[in-house]
Amino acid sequence: MNTRIKSLLVPAVLVVVVLLLPRFITSSYWLNLINLAISFSIACLGLNIVLGYTGQLSLAQAAFWGVGAYTSAILTTQLGLPVWAGIFAAFFVAALCGVLLGIPTLKLSGHYLAMATIGFGIIVQLILVNEIWLTNGSDGITKIPSPWIGSFELKDPATFFYVAAVSLILLTWGAIHLKNSRVGRAFMAIRENEMAAGTTGVDTTYYKIMAFALSAGYAGVGGWLFAHGGSHYISPDTFSFDQSVILLVMTVLGGNGSAIGSIVGGTLLTLLPEVLRFLKDSYMMVYAAGIVLIMIFMPRGIAGLVSNMPISLRLRTWWNADSVATLQVAATASSRENSGGSQKAFTPRDCSGSGEVLLTVKGLAKHFGGLKAVDGVDMAVRRGEIQALIGPNGSGKTTILNMLSGLYVPTAGEISLGGAAIAGKKPHIITSLGMARTFQNIRLFGELTVLENVLIGRHCHSRAGLFTSILRLPSQKAEEAAIRAKALEMLEFVGLNGKEFAQANSLPYGQQRLLELARALASDPQLLLLDEPAAGLNAAETEALVGLLFQICTRGVTILLVEHDMNLVMNVSDHITVLNFGKKIAEGSAEEIEKNQEVIDAYLGTEVGNA
Ligand code: ADP
Ligand code: MG
Repeated sequence: MNTRIKSLLVPAVLVVVVLLLPRFITSSYWLNLINLAISFSIACLGLNIVLGYTGQLSLAQAAFWGVGAYTSAILTTQLGLPVWAGIFAAFFVAALCGVLLGIPTLKLSGHYLAMATIGFGIIVQLILVNEIWLTNGSDGITKIPSPWIGSFELKDPATFFYVAAVSLILLTWGAIHLKNSRVGRAFMAIRENEMAAGTTGVDTTYYKIMAFALSAGYAGVGGWLFAHGGSHYISPDTFSFDQSVILLVMTVLGGNGSAIGSIVGGTLLTLLPEVLRFLKDSYMMVYAAGIVLIMIFMPRGIAGLVSNMPISLRLRTWWNADSVATLQVAATASSRENSGGSQKAFTPRDCSGSGEVLLTVKGLAKHFGGLKAVDGVDMAVRRGEIQALIGPNGSGKTTILNMLSGLYVPTAGEISLGGAAIAGKKPHIITSLGMARTFQNIRLFGELTVLENVLIGRHCHSRAGLFTSILRLPSQKAEEAAIRAKALEMLEFVGLNGKEFAQANSLPYGQQRLLELARALASDPQLLLLDEPAAGLNAAETEALVGLLFQICTRGVTILLVEHDMNLVMNVSDHITVLNFGKKIAEGSAEEIEKNQEVIDAYLGTEVGNA
């Protein structure tokens, strides 16, 4: 089936379902319930952006839902704002509150973040109850108007259902687009590994606030639907902490990270209590027990269970068979075959330094309390060279790389990269200035695919923002194709072609190291920092790594290498710096270092000649 027909299939089915549903379900009671389920589902879609995509626990979603409902209700009843304009007001005021919550919670994670969001929810509740002049206090707001189209009022549940359904479809469409975009990948990178996200070029502060704002905006629209449909009445107790917990359960139960899952969770938990009412007094118990059982047996929610079923896998393969990404990967593979494979022969060394200094470090120090992990180190790395940084365990090598890449703020000292002072700058800024790194303990975005990992490496060379991503504008599609081409080139360079759609953490250890390298190279760095790249590799893999290091160097990338494998270090390095207890004890060429008595005593030992 061609792509055009496939892309029309889903909208066609949706139109039929939306048009037919009110014909089959004629009871106002059930239609109102469905409208309520849609309002909850939209709030869950929002929660899924902050929790599922970005990995930040929020227990204030009902508060944002309430902010949306109250904003539109107040503006339409007191100031006569048109009801349709209320949607935008609800979205933006809730999103603004999302930003307000996002800023103070940036430094928090896990339980502390959850507690801060609970506090925020309580503040909103208190404002709704106590600011009577604005919100009418506990009495709530009555007679909230319905939307109109011309002279037709969308009041009865069947007509309001169309408004709700269209909102849900558009917002779901946006959330799905978002997941497969530059912005969505930045969110997921933060979820998977915040530290690596920063050093890969993602401004984690900006994207976390964006996720909170967007999530709150979605809840705001859900609140608008709640206020202007159903009973046309709102009061503070609807938007309580309990409701936030219910929204959280709906999202997780539906399948954290899945937009469709959020809708399934939202709908199921709204309708199920009604279905179970025949159980009379024990219905709440059965309902709660059902939730607990689902959580135990489906840790990844309903979406997780369904997506792992063989039929879903087959359906997904069929659906993706002619997706742009799949076709591009296939085209790259076949052009490689036609050209007889592009793996270059091993090049002993045709890169040579220009002599110009790329990185200068002066008096660099990092103290952890009384421990002087790095204590006044000076060094220079010349463009085009491979420089090694060696020393015993705990001598401060990783700490230096952490300061260079912006993860630690130096206690003292200066760092300059190509003339720009970078000490204390944020990791993503340093990445955009031309530095990339790998980690001693591999830090991949494990749940994402191999290709997505490398695409995130291209983050600082792409531009697509929130709205371009959500709307999937042509400019965004063109940019995606370009960064995918670069990512595929990098995967081929390290020899991971053919693994594009594998999950990163399913790769064997050696390949995970290569993937981290491909991700770092995707940002086109001038300087590449490698923290023990040969650790855990077998002899053959280490030999391949040596070849790769030379090839990287041939591409014009300067390398600063931390490594314990002395054979490798002596083989590849133009220049070696030796650390001990945070201080530089020697530097020079491999021959000079091998003969240096202080280095032999501190690190190499007497058998260095055979090392
Ligand atoms: P290397 O990479 O050379 O093995 P590190 O740079 O990891 O050494 O560590 C140098 C010293 O700094 C060690 O004593 C280590 O325990 C300490 N250190 C590193 N990071 C931290 C930290 N975040 N907090 C406290 N001490 C640290
Ligand atoms: Mg280390």
